Amino acid sequence: MQSTDALMFITTRPEVVFVRGEGSWLYDAQGTKYLDFIQGWAVNALGHSPKIIRDALAEQAAKVINVSPAYYNEPMRKLAGLIARLSGMGKVFFTNSGAEANEGAIKLARKWGSLKKDGAYELLTFENAFHGRTLATMAASGKPQWDKLYAPKLPGFRKLPLNDIEAVRAAIGPKTVGVMLEPIQGESGVVPFTPAFLQDLRRLTEERGLLLILDEIQTGIGRTGTMFGWQQSGVQPDIMTLAKGIGGGVPLGALVAKESVACFEPGDQGGTFNGNPLMTAVGLAVVGEVSRPAFLAQVTENGYYLMTRLRALSKELSLGEVRGQGLLVALELGKPVGSKVVDEALAQHLLINSPRPASLRFMPALNVTPAEIDAMLATLTTVLRKEL
Ligand SMILES: *Cc1c(COP(=O)(O)O)cnc(C)c1O
Repeated sequence: MQSTDALMFITTRPEVVFVRGEGSWLYDAQGTKYLDFIQGWAVNALGHSPKIIRDALAEQAAKVINVSPAYYNEPMRKLAGLIARLSGMGKVFFTNSGAEANEGAIKLARKWGSLKKDGAYELLTFENAFHGRTLATMAASGKPQWDKLYAPKLPGFRKLPLNDIEAVRAAIGPKTVGVMLEPIQGESGVVPFTPAFLQDLRRLTEERGLLLILDEIQTGIGRTGTMFGWQQSGVQPDIMTLAKGIGGGVPLGALVAKESVACFEPGDQGGTFNGNPLMTAVGLAVVGEVSRPAFLAQVTENGYYLMTRLRALSKELSLGEVRGQGLLVALELGKPVGSKVVDEALAQHLLINSPRPASLRFMPALNVTPAEIDAMLATLTTVLRKEL
């Protein structure tokens, strides 16, 4: 039995085994270098194994790794304070993944509904949404492939079309407690909600006394060029979830809520590893770095550069739309050749992702350089010329 055979089969993986990473680059066991525009799925905000994270891990590991969630620890308190200050939302609960943060958001909404809205529990969510892989977050998601998987499905979610405020208005009933969405749907192919829709949605949820929950797991922590995706439209939610970029590569997430909504009572929510000092020390280092105005300005600038170059390439090769915000970008290919392009790019030592059969997604490190963007485009151009 090969050691890989001992892994439960959940996806087809290429043969390559990565042994080392540095910034935008990964190295396999033979020392071959790969340019990484996936970065752990928009996770490694500062690239592979940056000094700032290695130092935070080493310093915290030398002090204390775990004290149990029954006690305060220093990095947990500091990171909560920093997120509260950056978001203007007063309360933070740390998690170990995005799905767990969303699961917590759903629980918090149901608890709030039981206290403030006569037991209302239903969340309005959206077609093609992705909120995670626990049973509740799968039910909240709008992936058609999941409709029948792991039945029976957790009730209490209703799917709506995107950017249609009248559909939201019509769906609100006595059991509705709130609306949950990603400002830009990442997994479904970088599909944005319009600022006008988000602003209308904020107005509507306020009028009807409903919670607005934003899943910022992919769009948060600088990915779009602002600290949180909602800062692009100025629509502050009542509840926000973070993960992916917040740990820069280590498992960390956060459930963030306005003080008025944070209604958990002792015993309602918890978890063995939640807020452990080793992970929150890394989060503190990452969030501190990403939230610097100069860092965010550079994300915006490099995002424009990436999109401008992709638009020129799209024009040259008669491809489709380029869309996104900051360094979360998609290119429409016009034909369902996404997975062939991904395979050929890997053969040419470039890692990119195809979230849909006819589209590519780019989610480089937030500190990617223009030279690395140029290198990605050079390889991509060769690959597309060959595969189209
Ligand atoms: C990745 C992702 C999740 C799930 O996060 P996990 O850490 O994989 O559980 C949820 N929502 C969005 C928008 C995501 O991109």
